[in-house]
Amino acid sequence: MLYQPPVQDLMFCIEHLSHWNEVSARDQYSQFDLSDVGAVLEGYAQFCAEQIAPLSHIGDTLGARFDKGRVTMPEGHARAYAQFVEMGWQALTHPVEYGGTGLPRAVGAAAVEMLNAADMSFGLCPLLTDGAIEALLLTGSDEQKAAYLEPLIAGRWSGTMNLTEPQAGSDLGRVATKALPRGDGSYGISGTKIFITYGAQDLTENIIHLVLARTPDAPAGPKGLSLFIVPQKLVEPDGTPGAGNSVNCLSIEHKLGVRASPTAVLEYDDATGFLIGNENSGLEYMFIMMNAARFSVGVQGIGISERAYQRALAYARDRVQSRPVNGGSKDAVPIIDHPDVRRMLMRMRSLTEGGRAMAAATAGLLDIAHHGDDPEIGALAEFMVPLVKGFCSERAVEVASLGVQIHGGMGFIEETGAAQHYRDARILPIYEGTTAIQANDLLGRKLMRDGGTTARLFAARIAETEAKLARGDAKAQSIGTSLAQARGAFEAALDWMLDNGRRDIDAAFAGSVPLLMLAGTLAAGWQLAKGAVAAQTALDAGQDTQFLTQKIATALFFAQHILPECTTEQTRIMNGSASLLDAAFPE
Ligand SMILES: Cc1cc2nc3c(=O)[nH]c(=O)nc-3n(C[C@H](O)[C@H](O)[C@H](O)COP(=O)(O)OP(=O)(O)OC[C@H]3O[C@@H](n4cnc5c(N)ncnc54)[C@H](O)[C@@H]3O)c2cc1C
Repeated sequence: MLYQPPVQDLMFCIEHLSHWNEVSARDQYSQFDLSDVGAVLEGYAQFCAEQIAPLSHIGDTLGARFDKGRVTMPEGHARAYAQFVEMGWQALTHPVEYGGTGLPRAVGAAAVEMLNAADMSFGLCPLLTDGAIEALLLTGSDEQKAAYLEPLIAGRWSGTMNLTEPQAGSDLGRVATKALPRGDGSYGISGTKIFITYGAQDLTENIIHLVLARTPDAPAGPKGLSLFIVPQKLVEPDGTPGAGNSVNCLSIEHKLGVRASPTAVLEYDDATGFLIGNENSGLEYMFIMMNAARFSVGVQGIGISERAYQRALAYARDRVQSRPVNGGSKDAVPIIDHPDVRRMLMRMRSLTEGGRAMAAATAGLLDIAHHGDDPEIGALAEFMVPLVKGFCSERAVEVASLGVQIHGGMGFIEETGAAQHYRDARILPIYEGTTAIQANDLLGRKLMRDGGTTARLFAARIAETEAKLARGDAKAQSIGTSLAQARGAFEAALDWMLDNGRRDIDAAFAGSVPLLMLAGTLAAGWQLAKGAVAAQTALDAGQDTQFLTQKIATALFFAQHILPECTTEQTRIMNGSASLLDAAFPE
C-alpha cells in the first residue's frame, strides 16, 4: 500500500479534541454519531489510498500540460476526478439544502488530510472549490446561491480564487484588475491574474472564478476591492453551462512541486462578471474564502507530513546499515535501531500528530463559533487559524526534509518519492499568505487589536490542561511541566509584544514569525497533551492499549523535544530585535 490513511488517529482527534460533544449537540449535526463518521472516513480512506495515491507519482512526472490555451491533466486524473464526483466527496461538509452531506468541519479536515496525503496536486482542486462554496454561502445573493452552489457542491463545477497579479502578491491593495459596470447588472472584468490554481483544467463542466477587481470610482488600496463571480462558461437560465466567457489561459507555470496542479496565468478581457455583495467589500469577503483555504493549507501540511513519515518509517525498517552502538549485534542492523534515526522518526511523527490534533480542535471551535453566538469562542477559533496554517505548513517542510534525511542519498534521488514530498511541501508556507503574512495577522489582528484578551484566553485554557496533567502519573506530570514552561514563554512574549507594540512597532514585528511558531508549537503540544489525558483515561478503562500507549509516548516526546523550542522563540522575540533591525546589508 502506497499510503495507509491514519483513520484511527483521525477518529481519536475527532472524538477527544474536536469538542465533539458540543458540536454534535447542535441541530445541524445531531443526526451524526461517531460510528457514522467512522464509516464515512473508512470509505474516504479507501478511495484516497486506492484511487488517488497511485496518481501522485505519475502526476509529478508528467505534470499538467498546456497547449494553445488548453490544459490537459496527467493520465488518470480525469477518471479519478469523475469517481470523486460520483461518490459525492466534494459535498461532505456543505449544507444539506444545496445537496451537501452536512458533516462537521473536523470530519472535513480529516478528509482533506487524507486526500492531500494521497496526492496534494489532486487535492488542490476540491480545496479551492470548498473555499468558493464557503464564500458564496456567506456572501452570495439568494439568486447566486441558487445558480452556483449545487453544481459546485456536487463537484461538477470547480472554484478558483483570483487574487494575485504580477505587482500584487502579499499586498492585495495593489490589485489593478478593472470592473466596469455595464448597466445591466453585470460588469466587464479586464486584467491579468497570475498563479491561479486550477485556473484551467479538463476535469469539470465549468469553472467558477472568484475575482478581486476594482470598480471605476473605487478608493485606492485594499478598501477599493470588490469581489466578482466570473464563470468560465456563462450559465444559461436552465442552470447549464453555455457560451464561453472571455477568460483565457495564457500559460501554466513550471514548478518545483505540485506539478499536476495547473497554476495558470489568466487574462480577463472584458469578461462578464457578477458582483458579490457590496462594492468595495471584496477583501472582507475574500478573507472568508482565504480563512477556509488557510486552514485547509495547514491540513495539507499534515497530510504531506503523514505521507513522508510513512515512507521514511518503511525505509528505516528495511535499510540495513552499521552495527548498533550498544554492541547488541555483530552485524549491521536496520537503521531504525540507531538512536538518531529514531529521533528523526519521532520528530516527524510528533509534529504530524501535533498538527492533526491542533487542526481537529480548531475545526471544532470554528463549528461552534459558526453555529453559535459566543464571541469568545469565535475569537479563539480565529486566533487558531494562522497557527494551523503557519505551524503545519512550516513543519511540513521540516518533516519532509527529515524524510529525505532518513533515506540518506536515496532521499535525494527521485525514485524513492521522499524528494517529491519535500518539493510538494515547499509551497505550503508560501501560498494563501506566506508565513510572514500569517504572523502579521496573528500579531496585528488577533493579538494587539484586542489588547491580548484572546491570547490570554488561549493561555488560560492551556493552564486547565496542565492542572489535569498534574493529577496524573509521572509521564503526565512531565508533559504538564513542559507545557507550563512553554505557556510561560508565550505569556512573557505576549506581555513584551503588547508593551513594545505600542512603543516600537518594528521591534514587535521583528518577532512576529517567532511568535507565530511559539504559539503554534504551544498549541500543538497542548492538544497532544489533551490527547494524552484522554488516552490515559481510555487505558484505565481497559481499551486498545498499543495505539493509546503510543499517543502518550508521542505527547511525551513532543513535550520533551519540541516544546522547549518555545523558550528559544521567546528569547528571539525579547532579546533579538536589535541585532535584526540594526543589521546592515552593504551594497
Ligand atoms: C503554486 C502556486 C499556487 C498559487 N495559487 C494561487 C491561487 O490560486 N490564487 C491566487 O490568487 N494566488 C495564488 N498563488 C499566489 C500566492 O498566494 C502568492 O505567491 C503569495 O501570496 C506570495 O505573494 P508573492 O509571490 O507576490 O510574494 P511577495 O508578496 O512578493 O513576497 C515575497 C517575500 O516578501 C515577504 N513579504 C511581503 N510582504 C510582507 C510583509 N508585509 N511583511 C513581512 N513580509 C512580507 C513575503 O513573506 C515573502 O517572503 C499561488 C502561488 C503559487 C506559487
